[in-house]
Amino acid sequence: MKTLTILSGKGGTGKTTLTASLAVLLARKRKIIVADCDADAPNLGLALGLKEKDFSSWKEVETNEKAVLDEKKCIGCKKCLDVCNFSAISWDKKKNKPIFNSMLCEGCGSCQLVCPAKAVNLIKVKNGKIGSAKTKYNFNLISGQLKIGATGSGKVVSLIKEKVMKEGKKQKAEIILVDSAAGVGCPVIASIQGSDFILAITEPTPSGLSDLKRALRTVEHFRIPYGVVINKYDINKEFSKKIEIFAKKYKIPLLGKIPYNKEFVNALVNLKPVVEYNKKFEPLFEKILEKSLEKLKNMK
Ligand code: SF4
Ligand code: SF4
Repeated sequence: MKTLTILSGKGGTGKTTLTASLAVLLARKRKIIVADCDADAPNLGLALGLKEKDFSSWKEVETNEKAVLDEKKCIGCKKCLDVCNFSAISWDKKKNKPIFNSMLCEGCGSCQLVCPAKAVNLIKVKNGKIGSAKTKYNFNLISGQLKIGATGSGKVVSLIKEKVMKEGKKQKAEIILVDSAAGVGCPVIASIQGSDFILAITEPTPSGLSDLKRALRTVEHFRIPYGVVINKYDINKEFSKKIEIFAKKYKIPLLGKIPYNKEFVNALVNLKPVVEYNKKFEPLFEKILEKSLEKLKNMK
């Protein structure tokens, strides 16, 4: 079982659109399973026409902790106030005790460590959910969602990856396709870990290129081979050329260039992968898929 991950340095570059179409094409010839690891903004299900009710088995997960105060034990020393780097503790002057803000608490545990009175407890919180759904394109999607205002999406992503590995083995999948979280943070690291090849999508803008470079530095840290796709390359051909020159200079395979087309938006509005919405786009995505599979084949 090999893992192909679609990554972007920031949101809104067409990562989910690309994943949805590659998944549909790939499922026509190989046994696959797909993971939506963008737990902060999971849209792959929508792009594949799935609704919340199609996910048969939503399961709440607890991957984070929050600090809570045992007022009776607190001696008002303020040590916790000094160590919190997330502004999650304020001071109640009347009571001479700390107030813990659960929305801001990251569960790092520093306050518990420094508290001389053992007045801080860390309690597990339900911060997300994970579910799976059968798509009409002959593959299952495992997706996860972080609760509004909750933290700890990296750990939710790790659980999504665990589940997709388990399900993939059970279903004898040949390939796992992963729609990664966007950016360079903890959820991205969790998304790309264990990948055999990464397809990084970018757009021809200065921020697109700079975000791509940042994302690729993260990928390089894990020594995962990668290639690049330029989305909407024709909205700024000059800048697309710059990305191509960058790719050539660092021997990064350029696996495709996708033009801007209103049909991509129409496909999203109609909750269909673009290759299903308008067949004329099939050869374009098929070419990107073939090149990616060729790279994947060469990985151990
Ligand atoms: S657990 Fe960490 S983030 Fe939460 S209140 Fe304590 S120090 Fe602040
Ligand atoms: S460190 Fe402990 S005892 Fe001191 S103020 Fe905070 S909770 Fe109270």
